[in-house]
Amino acid sequence: MRTVRGRTGRVVVVGAGLAGLSAALHLAGRGRQVTVVERDPGPGGRTGRVTRDGYHLDTGPTVLTMPSILAGTFAAAGADLADHLRLTRLDPAYTARFADGSVLPVHSDGDRMADAVRAFAGPAEAAGYRRLRTWLTRLYTAEFDRFVAGNIDSPLGLLTPDLARLVALGGFRRLDRRIGAFLRDERLKRVFIFQALYAGESPMRALALYAVISYMDTVGGVYFPEGGMAAVPRAMAAAAAAAGVEFRFGEAVTGLERRGARVTAVLTAGDRIAADVVVLTTEPHESYRLLGRAPRRPIPLRPAPSALVLHAGGPGDWPAGHHTISFGDGWTSTFRELITEGRPMSDPSLLITRPTATDPGLAPPGRQLFSILAPVPNLARGPRDWDRDAEPYAEEILDHVRARLLPGFEPELQYILSPADWQRRGLVAGTPFSYAHSFGQTGPFRPRNLPPGTENVVLAGGGTVPGVGVPTVLLSGRLAADRITGPVRSADPVPEGAR
Ligand SMILES: Cc1cc2nc3c(=O)[nH]c(=O)nc-3n(C[C@H](O)[C@H](O)[C@H](O)COP(=O)(O)OP(=O)(O)OC[C@H]3O[C@@H](n4cnc5c(N)ncnc54)[C@H](O)[C@@H]3O)c2cc1C
Repeated sequence: MRTVRGRTGRVVVVGAGLAGLSAALHLAGRGRQVTVVERDPGPGGRTGRVTRDGYHLDTGPTVLTMPSILAGTFAAAGADLADHLRLTRLDPAYTARFADGSVLPVHSDGDRMADAVRAFAGPAEAAGYRRLRTWLTRLYTAEFDRFVAGNIDSPLGLLTPDLARLVALGGFRRLDRRIGAFLRDERLKRVFIFQALYAGESPMRALALYAVISYMDTVGGVYFPEGGMAAVPRAMAAAAAAAGVEFRFGEAVTGLERRGARVTAVLTAGDRIAADVVVLTTEPHESYRLLGRAPRRPIPLRPAPSALVLHAGGPGDWPAGHHTISFGDGWTSTFRELITEGRPMSDPSLLITRPTATDPGLAPPGRQLFSILAPVPNLARGPRDWDRDAEPYAEEILDHVRARLLPGFEPELQYILSPADWQRRGLVAGTPFSYAHSFGQTGPFRPRNLPPGTENVVLAGGGTVPGVGVPTVLLSGRLAADRITGPVRSADPVPEGAR
């Protein structure tokens, strides 16, 4: 495995999102002197927090999977996750609601889920579910360590027995067809393929390899931290500080000082921070700007679809669980609209989260908080003035939610985040989900974490390997640390659900 050249004693990490915090914890645990420079006043980045009128809003991720990776990240710096965060395993992980009025609780426990599938769609589908679960577990086992959680120097590095296993498992076929080999019920299939959207792809185009995301939530399980998702970066920053990491919040990095092929310092408006190695967790285009050089690619990178998120709080006693996936009737059309045609879904599928179902302290007494995530096109595929359109679109989405789940809901608090907001944060094409995980933008074909032309800079975060999402950006921090120190074997995750 290639590593950076020269001295590695002093590392400056740019960005205190989950990737930067993960890199800092791993590097501090390996004896490096680490400084994290973050433009925001506190840690989290996209895993953000806004507090309004007694409501505590998680402005980024809501679905937390693979806590073993989080535990491994704390352990890397000698810390214990349990001392820092209290996680609840959600049961059901989701509730799936369909346009025909049918409802399916999605349990990550195999027996409970098989019972739920039997009640929902009959014994043949329950048997299909069991076979699917076995296949998902085998896929995860073949794929995870080498292709997701490992550094790969070139496409040739893929040529291993695990690749042959992945081919034999059908990992390079289309996701919807492969899942269709196990399940016939179209509603049920959706529960295991909608996750393609997390990867920025349609299930009709995505490779079956990406079913590893369905493994993570439908088999591994979904968790929620007390205090909400923003408690995760706060806890990581506290553990990192305890391990000796220095944090400089409220300081934006404006440039890098170079000497030949080496970066010698990170520059802020008022300071020069000397570095032997720099980890950049900024968006790739910003990282390349700082490096003064972008790698040439035969085809430009394609950004993933974006999202509009409506946070809504108010009184009421609603029968909604923690996560509801509300599927519209349209399906193929939904992905066509979002990804190909660049317009909002005409019959939206929505992720509706009620964090107060698990932690009532996130809203004032007697109040409920919801976040409603509607996928929308990114600004490259569907340019639009979201500063003008976000409110009316959010009202449309709220009408759907009232009709499907929360009749008569009149929120006293509304807070909307749209592609215009992500764009103001400097995120590519106004999407918080970075580059899509198409085949040509995955693994060794994704922007690499060792950028060419510089000896001592490493990239981390959703725009590089392995990709977007909480578990993957945590891994990206570890992969960046491995590029600096060489790999160590202590923090490998125990695969959830593979037992
Ligand atoms: C609405 C939404 C929903 C999501 N849902 C899920 C989900 O349910 N499950 C899941 O697993 N993932 C989800 N994700 C994705 C996940 O949140 C991200 O992939 C992950 O948080 C990205 O972490 P990061 O460290 O790569 O980037 P960031 O969190 O963006 O961190 C980068 C940091 O760098 C800082 N920075 C940038 N430029 C500079 C500079 N010049 N100087 C100093 N600092 C700088 C930024 O301020 C930021 O703090 C969601 C994201 C969003 C926004």
